[in-house]
Amino acid sequence: MAYILRVTETYQQQKKKPTDLQKQLQRTEERLRRAPTKLAHSEELKAGLKGKRSCRIKSNWRLIFTICEECREAKHQDTNLLDCPGCADQSDKTVNLLYIMDYH
Ligand SMILES: [Zn+2]
Repeated sequence: MAYILRVTETYQQQKKKPTDLQKQLQRTEERLRRAPTKLAHSEELKAGLKGKRSCRIKSNWRLIFTICEECREAKHQDTNLLDCPGCADQSDKTVNLLYIMDYH
């Protein structure tokens, strides 16, 4: 079963800008739709980003996201509430695309 992608306003804005990332972003989104935990370089983040995941888009560019079923299981919902508005009404198979960042 495919996952449902939800995007934040921030992500939408960012997606418009880096034109050289468009193709890779499209591919990354497709992969996230199929298997968000099995993506290459999909990793769970720590400290301030606990409960979130990142995966590689291209070179240093990472996409930060959450998966509803994972958040619920790990009880990260309190800290991730802002990332997933109305989470309780979302399917477990929801991937929230939060933002893009440049890792150094
Ligand atoms: Zn959620």
